[in-house]
Amino acid sequence: MAKPALTLYLAAPRGFCAGVDRAIKIVEMALEKWGAPVYVRHEIVHNKYVVDDLRGKGAVFVEDLDDCPDDRPVIFSAHGVPKAVPAEAARREMVYVDATCPLVSKVHIEAERHHQNGLQMIMIGHAGHPETVGTMGQLPDGKVLLVETVQDVATVQVRDPEKLAFVTQTTLSVDDTADIVAALQARFPGIVGPHKEDICYATTNRQDAVKAMAPKCDAMLVVGAPNSSNSRRLVEVGARAGCGYAQLVQRATDIDWRALQGISTLGITAGASAPEVLINEVIDAFRDRFNVTIEQVVTAEENVEFKVPRVLRIPA
Ligand code: SF4
Repeated sequence: MAKPALTLYLAAPRGFCAGVDRAIKIVEMALEKWGAPVYVRHEIVHNKYVVDDLRGKGAVFVEDLDDCPDDRPVIFSAHGVPKAVPAEAARREMVYVDATCPLVSKVHIEAERHHQNGLQMIMIGHAGHPETVGTMGQLPDGKVLLVETVQDVATVQVRDPEKLAFVTQTTLSVDDTADIVAALQARFPGIVGPHKEDICYATTNRQDAVKAMAPKCDAMLVVGAPNSSNSRRLVEVGARAGCGYAQLVQRATDIDWRALQGISTLGITAGASAPEVLINEVIDAFRDRFNVTIEQVVTAEENVEFKVPRVLRIPA
């Protein structure tokens, strides 16, 4: 029987960003330099495939520095860590490498600078996400107020409305964050902050590509992990931009074929921590069932690259 025709729109940019690429390279180079095991505090990036692959090469993933021995190197994940973590590693005289994305480190520096200038910090982010925990942890406990929604802005209690600054998580929804920033500026006209927010180029570009692609699609799949903030935002952006069925899948085995019966157009994108091999796996699964024509939806070109820390560039 002839396979049904399917136009498959592929968002570009999609998948790995420069921060994820660098973080994975850091673990691989650390394994080369120091041999296995190398400890990694938290999933280096939020993707099971990537984590399993590195585990197979000798990385040991732990949630707490207490679970690392003193005499093995430890790497901090791309999401960033509270200041207390490297301080504790230094106290224990451990070898550590910080794989925090430079765009997250930039937010850490902003928060600290505002605090030193006597401003009270507000962070726009998701409670409990490691990046939020890491950024809030740049200042002493209780010094950063967290707002997650426009409603939170109405109730947040500040010390002095004239002495405030804000930072944001890098992987938020651009549109939701604009609303929260507008609410903050309306309630606290003197609040200091970045030009718009701290959402990174990769998050912005992936959301823009989805906005261009989603209205053309009967269905849309985002390849990514359930704990990946930027991947989950892509699903929301796709649904809001007019795609009636937008779903997150980790791999081809997650595809709900029944829900996709009768579609003739499909959009595919991937979160910043999802490797291209998984995107290809999903595309191949569609090729098995449909007569697929691929069209790229290109909204930006990316050529960002981050260097790995110097300690990994010099021989052991
Ligand atoms: S999503 Fe953005 S902030 Fe996060 S690792 Fe990638 S480039 Fe860095």
